[in-house]
Amino acid sequence: MTDDYPIQKSDPEWKEILAAKGAEPGAFQVTRHAATERPFSGKYERVWADGSYHCICCGAKLFDADTKFDAGCGWPSFDRAVPGAIREIRDSTHGMIRTETVCAQCGAHLGHVFPDGPTDTGLRYCMNSASLDFHPQEKA
Ligand SMILES: [Zn+2]
Repeated sequence: MTDDYPIQKSDPEWKEILAAKGAEPGAFQVTRHAATERPFSGKYERVWADGSYHCICCGAKLFDADTKFDAGCGWPSFDRAVPGAIREIRDSTHGMIRTETVCAQCGAHLGHVFPDGPTDTGLRYCMNSASLDFHPQEKA
């Protein structure tokens, strides 16, 4: 973990914040220690409502719901992120070269982005449901 994110908190502080938000039980391990939730286990994998997805830790908006698509992989998938919301980090763990995605504000681990998306962006943001907080569309 680099330490130059605008939002810095200790592990106990993050645990308290996640508990207060009613985050999924694995949210702390996923966001602060780059764990991966089991596929098809996340609460947002099958959510298609209008709205936006935010960082479960700091609340920064990461994705619009209309960029979410069904990748069939068992994790919430998006084809485009909110500009500047996500930082990409080269990840060579587990014997693969992948691109890790973290929240640009607080460094929360979100998942990975792959260059094999089916839409015109060519990108597939494969996210942990536990890293996300869905905000339903607000009525205008
Ligand atoms: Zn964040």
